[in-house]
Amino acid sequence: MSRFLLIGPPGAGKGTQAARLAESYGIPAISTGDIFRFNVKNETELGKLAKSFMDRGEYVPDSVTNDLVRDRLNMDDAAAGFLLDGYPRTADQVSELDSILDEHDTSLDAVILLTADTDEIVRRLLNRAIEQGRTDDTEDVIRRRLEVYEAETAPLTSVYASRGLVIMVDGLGAIDEVTGRIVEALDARGYAN
Ligand code: ADP
Repeated sequence: MSRFLLIGPPGAGKGTQAARLAESYGIPAISTGDIFRFNVKNETELGKLAKSFMDRGEYVPDSVTNDLVRDRLNMDDAAAGFLLDGYPRTADQVSELDSILDEHDTSLDAVILLTADTDEIVRRLLNRAIEQGRTDDTEDVIRRRLEVYEAETAPLTSVYASRGLVIMVDGLGAIDEVTGRIVEALDARGYAN
């Protein structure tokens, strides 16, 4: 079974790596950021609500995010495994995920922590702003997103580390190289792709 989380600061390259890993392990990549952006684009009620937080670099409220992930993980294609990208990001989301998995009599296999230094992150995000025009990639909002990550999400890694689940991977370098590092580390733990 492959039930993986991908955690790391904004700009560490989670989305890029998630797509590749999902393909190679034959599991769905579930990105809360992508689901929110899809809803913003389609101007759904969820999208309108999410946008007001995203544009400020704040997290969407836990109650909203948790319901969304619960529904997504209850779908058939997630039964045999999944890669969650960008969730959980708060302590409340960690407990919610634990409950969801408990209800399915399963648990996580590994938590991939993708690291990158702040200068590189800001450089990548400003670059992405030019390429993709994301409204949350302006300098002020980027700074706020990094602050929120440090305050809310970085501490969660110790929770998963105490469960022996964390695999730390350097996110600097060529995209293929980073994918290679992750696959190797998962392989070493007995999760073959
Ligand atoms: P990044 O990792 O670069 O911040 P994402 O695409 O993962 O980008 O997320 C973009 C935005 O979507 C976040 O800044 C936040 O507002 C919202 N979001 C995504 N995932 C979550 C989550 N698990 N909890 C709350 N808000 C989230």
